[in-house]
Amino acid sequence: MSEKDKNNIEKTGDGQVEETKNHEDEYEKICFVCRRPETTTGKMIDLPNGISICGDCMQKSFDAMMSGQIDYSQLMNMNIPGVQILNMADMEQNIPKRQKIKKKKEGEEKKPLIDIRNVPAPHKIKGRLDEYVVGQEYAKKAMSVAVYNHYKRVASDTMDEIEIEKSNMLMIGPTGSGKTYLVKTLARLLDVPLAITDATSLTEAGYIGDDIESVVSKLLAAADNDVEKAEQGIIFIDEIDKIAKKKNTNQRDVSGESVQQGMLKLLEGSNVEVPVGANSKNAMVPLTTVNTKNILFICGGAFPDLDMIIKERLTKQSSIGFGADLKDKYDHDKSILEKVTTEDLRNFGMIPEFLGRLPIVFTLRGLSEEMMVQILKEPKNAILKQYQKLLALDEVKLEFNEGALHAIAKKAMEKDTGARALRAIIEEFMLDIMYEIPKDDNIGQVTITREYIEGTGGPQIMLRGQSLPGIGCN
Ligand code: ADP
Repeated sequence: MSEKDKNNIEKTGDGQVEETKNHEDEYEKICFVCRRPETTTGKMIDLPNGISICGDCMQKSFDAMMSGQIDYSQLMNMNIPGVQILNMADMEQNIPKRQKIKKKKEGEEKKPLIDIRNVPAPHKIKGRLDEYVVGQEYAKKAMSVAVYNHYKRVASDTMDEIEIEKSNMLMIGPTGSGKTYLVKTLARLLDVPLAITDATSLTEAGYIGDDIESVVSKLLAAADNDVEKAEQGIIFIDEIDKIAKKKNTNQRDVSGESVQQGMLKLLEGSNVEVPVGANSKNAMVPLTTVNTKNILFICGGAFPDLDMIIKERLTKQSSIGFGADLKDKYDHDKSILEKVTTEDLRNFGMIPEFLGRLPIVFTLRGLSEEMMVQILKEPKNAILKQYQKLLALDEVKLEFNEGALHAIAKKAMEKDTGARALRAIIEEFMLDIMYEIPKDDNIGQVTITREYIEGTGGPQIMLRGQSLPGIGCN
């Protein structure tokens, strides 16, 4: 970024960085009262605090006040249809962070943001994912092909009778196996906006919680209020298994089945009215329309006990006829989840219409100790590399011997939260190191050992210009 651009970035009160001035012209103003954009209302009147009011609303407010029959203070408490009175005091309190939407470029021929020739081929997408995500070969492959097809469909946008189906995905895998990380990496590689949401926070409109459409508004914010960009983004809905239909319940199920129902239209593609600059619709927030037809939806979940459902089905199938297998044949099958079918997911509590809109289903494996070790040291931004870089700034070399890596991986396996545990464990051990090392300028190298991780010894310290291990620090 050039120095000039840097000057055009200013920090708002809550720490959010907003690009101003230069980029301001690309956004269109929205009337604070009637929420229509400037292209519809005509020239706006600018008020302090970045508020704009259209001529009609301004006139209505003046007319009402000037008629003199109604006292202003009374007017504020009345609810007159079609007349809204501006109260500057209220305005200042309720101003959402950014109320403008990006202007659609006029005159120019509408060019798709994604050029079909620029969508990287599946093997290239997978190759890039390999740099960051360890293992999960099948998931990476399935995802690369699905994403490639999806963006090809978006770029071609053909309206003939052969309509390419949307490649929304369902990812099944234990917690901490890299579901969110895969999606984040993918969105970064493709440079498309991404919104991540938790299915448990979603409720049907009208209930406490975020209504389902709020995910689209999050995506719009991630796309910097650029509707066109948001319409080609990715929405990741985590913990989708938590909105499974509850079994044997007589009560109305507001959090499960009805949320699945509510999501059908979004997944398929529909026009959604979303608030700009906030995640709930209220009188103070302008609305804009986002079409979800080209938004890629990826749902993820751990689906606990799904393996039991699969096992039951397989055992039932194989116990019929001559080829009857032993009952416990699948008990130790590590890849049982990979045998999942739509029928199993239906038995789990997902409704058929919902599953029908997620045509790509794939699974991720739980991480092994060996994979954990790889995650520690191999990805481009591996945790070890990050610590090594930090200490290198103090001109200290940081090493982890193999024993230490395995000891860390083993501890992480015990926590049963996948790779998520790794960072917490390393941080705990590195705290002392990061505290002690800068104290002594003579230290040139630190080697973390298995003994240090297991609490039976200290790290090996080497002084500058020394080749033998020095005294351990602890
Ligand atoms: P979940 O499957 O629960 O969504 P996450 O994707 O949030 O898990 O994983 C948590 C963290 O663990 C990620 O931020 C990432 O650093 C690391 N991680 C998990 N799986 C992998 C993997 N296969 N390769 C590299 N890092 C991983």
